[in-house]
Amino acid sequence: SLEQGPEGPDTPIQVVLRVRPMSAAELRRGEQSALHCSGTRTLQVSPPGGGPDVAFRFGAVLDGARTQEDVFRACGVRRLGELALRGFSCTVFTFGQTGSGKTYTLTGPPPQGEGVPVPPSLAGIMQRTFAWLLDRVQHLGAPVTLQASYLEIYNEQVRDLLSLGAPRPLPVRWDKTRGFYVEQLQLVEFGSLGALMELLEMGLSRRRSSAHTLNQASSRSHALLTLYIGRQTVPPVDPGEAPVGGKLCFVDLAGSEKVAATGSRGELMLEANSINRSLLALGHCISLLLDPQRKQSHIPFRDSKLTKLLADSLGGRGVTLMVACVSPSAQCLPETLSTLRYASRAQ
Ligand code: ADP
Ligand code: MG
Repeated sequence: SLEQGPEGPDTPIQVVLRVRPMSAAELRRGEQSALHCSGTRTLQVSPPGGGPDVAFRFGAVLDGARTQEDVFRACGVRRLGELALRGFSCTVFTFGQTGSGKTYTLTGPPPQGEGVPVPPSLAGIMQRTFAWLLDRVQHLGAPVTLQASYLEIYNEQVRDLLSLGAPRPLPVRWDKTRGFYVEQLQLVEFGSLGALMELLEMGLSRRRSSAHTLNQASSRSHALLTLYIGRQTVPPVDPGEAPVGGKLCFVDLAGSEKVAATGSRGELMLEANSINRSLLALGHCISLLLDPQRKQSHIPFRDSKLTKLLADSLGGRGVTLMVACVSPSAQCLPETLSTLRYASRAQ
């Protein structure tokens, strides 16, 4: 597991692959699995109609039998949490086509009905990290300021999921001390796990009920929940401003099905009419960051809101964990291969 990895943030991007189980609908349609794991780090893809298997290697490969707890452990999220407590900016994001398990991996299944709680065993990476963090902070014996923000990027517009005001797009700005930030984004201070869970639930339910979710475009929005971890002894002067400290960001990315990725490592071919500029920009920034020949300075973080907001964790002050999510069904193979290539190029 990545948990055994080296202490410092020396590998900027770690990639874990999660294959979800066959869904009831896939089984009903008699679809076959095209994927199998061999060992803990290799995925074998069997092309339909024969031909040799293609193998992909990742930091960890998790098959459909792995539980939410297994995934949390294998992803080594606690190590990212420790780095965030030491002042680094760390990010966990899920990538994959719509229906591949991104939201399930981060936040578990949606509630089955009003007031029906989701069993704790199905809690996602986010709830598990929150519980770990609050426990860890309690035992630190030093004052820590904790704040959270939760936003959604849809069609390159940022919407605050925690603000009670009328929804309106917020601008992304840059300044020397803060880097990129969202103007007037609510940073809500919290002191307990319960309070943080309430913020998560508020954002999740707002996502589920937003206009673009209802008209089927929810797969086209990114959701970013960020925890700001301040370890100074005095509270920030301006309560609206984040204290200087670490960040831990969780990103449920838009469905990747509009991204066409071909060619060799470091090369992303843009699908002509792609509306998902952010995923392309993210792939582009990652491939430039990994290119040993790159000119140190210029990574085009400015190309999208998403890459602006992830710049500090991608750009060296932190660690990024990508959980690539795929369906096992042979029916999904074209999209699965594009996810596997995107994920392979990121490591
Ligand atoms: P995405 O966010 O990538 O569009 P979801 O997380 O919504 O996909 O998953 C699609 C469906 O599959 C949901 O009904 C979800 O509950 C279910 N699902 C995803 N991953 C798993 C898993 N590992 N185990 C059981 N059900 C899963
Ligand atoms: Mg989703």
